[in-house]
Amino acid sequence: MFSISNYQNILAEVKAGNATLVAVSKTKTAPEILHLYNQGQRIFGENKVQELVSKYEQLPKDISWHLIGHLQSNKVKYIAPFVTLIHSVDSYKLLQTISKEAIKCSRTLDCLLQVHIAEEETKFGFLPHEITPLLQTLQQQPLPNIRICGLMGMATFTDNTQQIQREFKTLADLFKKINSSALNIQNHFTVLSMGMSSDYKLALAQGSNMVRIGSLIFGARTA
Ligand SMILES: *Cc1c(COP(=O)(O)O)cnc(C)c1O
Repeated sequence: MFSISNYQNILAEVKAGNATLVAVSKTKTAPEILHLYNQGQRIFGENKVQELVSKYEQLPKDISWHLIGHLQSNKVKYIAPFVTLIHSVDSYKLLQTISKEAIKCSRTLDCLLQVHIAEEETKFGFLPHEITPLLQTLQQQPLPNIRICGLMGMATFTDNTQQIQREFKTLADLFKKINSSALNIQNHFTVLSMGMSSDYKLALAQGSNMVRIGSLIFGARTA
């Protein structure tokens, strides 16, 4: 169940850490999202394209919608006209498609590169050592209508706090290195998206400036 005081406590904590709160609304209904919207929340994250499009259509147009889940190239066209930030770019091919679709709707699309930092095999993302070469390629041959705004990562789902800290630190170190390098040439590389309900405190402590929180705000997902 959604609780306003829960939301306000989390928001205060996230703000104190100079971070942005993405309210992850996947599986939640439009009225549930509107309830949080009425508390002032404007940034919502979804992990499925179809669900994102349907909620965009139903809900107020001043919401910033973030895609946080795996994106297939053939679905980019559905979100390109309105999405605010894509957290989950995990291949060069996908970036090319995003660029193409962004041109078609005369927008510049902000993207984060998803980095695989967890032990689990199943999570998508670039390996940490692939990021610098990719950014160098993009610097030499820029893809039009795209801005690479930072990195996103998910830690292993574990009770081992030290492991989570280590994984977040790996991502934060990579982020800092790029952010302060010549690869951050246009100063767009400013977002470090890490931390979910179970580990956002650890993520903030490691320097996250964007957390993606669902169940702690909306209550546990049944679907
Ligand atoms: C579902 C999801 C979240 C939020 O998960 P909670 O544990 O509910 O906070 C964050 N990031 C991604 C990529 C997700 O898919």
